[in-house]
Amino acid sequence: MTLATLSEVLQPALRGGYAVAGLVCLGWEDARAYALAAEAERAPVILQAGPSCRAHTPLPVLGAMFRHLADSVSVPVVVHLDHGYTVEDCHDAIRAGFSSVMFDGSRKPLAENIAETAAIVELAHNAGVSCEGEIGFVGYSGGEASAGTDPAEAARFARETGVDAMAISVGNVHLQQDHEGGLDEPRIRAIEAVTDVPLVIHGGSGVPLAERTALATCSAICKFNIGTELRMAFGAALRAAVNRDPARFDRVQILKETHDPVMEAARAAIRAMGASGKA
Ligand SMILES: [Zn+2]
Repeated sequence: MTLATLSEVLQPALRGGYAVAGLVCLGWEDARAYALAAEAERAPVILQAGPSCRAHTPLPVLGAMFRHLADSVSVPVVVHLDHGYTVEDCHDAIRAGFSSVMFDGSRKPLAENIAETAAIVELAHNAGVSCEGEIGFVGYSGGEASAGTDPAEAARFARETGVDAMAISVGNVHLQQDHEGGLDEPRIRAIEAVTDVPLVIHGGSGVPLAERTALATCSAICKFNIGTELRMAFGAALRAAVNRDPARFDRVQILKETHDPVMEAARAAIRAMGASGKA
């Protein structure tokens, strides 16, 4: 049994100079590959269920599945809700056995984001669960534009909400398919100077690997969310498996061939954050 809260993996990461991978799961095949990747790297890992994952599979099924994976490996596994948008989302996740929730109030006015996040932090902490919040707005490639995190607002957000981790907007963008967008390091330094809360980068796939490593080692960034690059590895492996034999129709046979490439991609992401051997 290695279920852990977000705090239990991010506080050691903050002290130890590495970051923990928040790996975006869409189902059993990728979640299992990520858990085994963490086991192989001897690294803590965060299995996270975002909105599209939850639209496909009911939350109680995901909670049971991720907790089963936590039980089956010997490294710490955080069962995390990514982008909960309402109290109900977070409450349902806690009931479904998640050990950590993210409440995303980043589209709301500051005072509202603070008030609602603080209420969910209280709800989560009363249940022994961690809570991540977001200050500033991390945009979407080809969609909504970002609003960079203001350091003074970040300090106030951290102080008044009591969050265990804080997602910030510092040049990162969701859903990027290349590694070309570097981060605004002066803004990261200004934020970490005014708060002790571990920082989170959403849209980690868009951050160059060398920059991920440097920031994981030498900044308060303790969690990079990685989704797009792993979904691309899964998609490429699935396409190759389907095309290899047009007569094959059994989905278990086909999906089996996604396991090794997805696990390798996850191991590479974990290694780039300096987390290998830290469990
Ligand atoms: Zn995100």
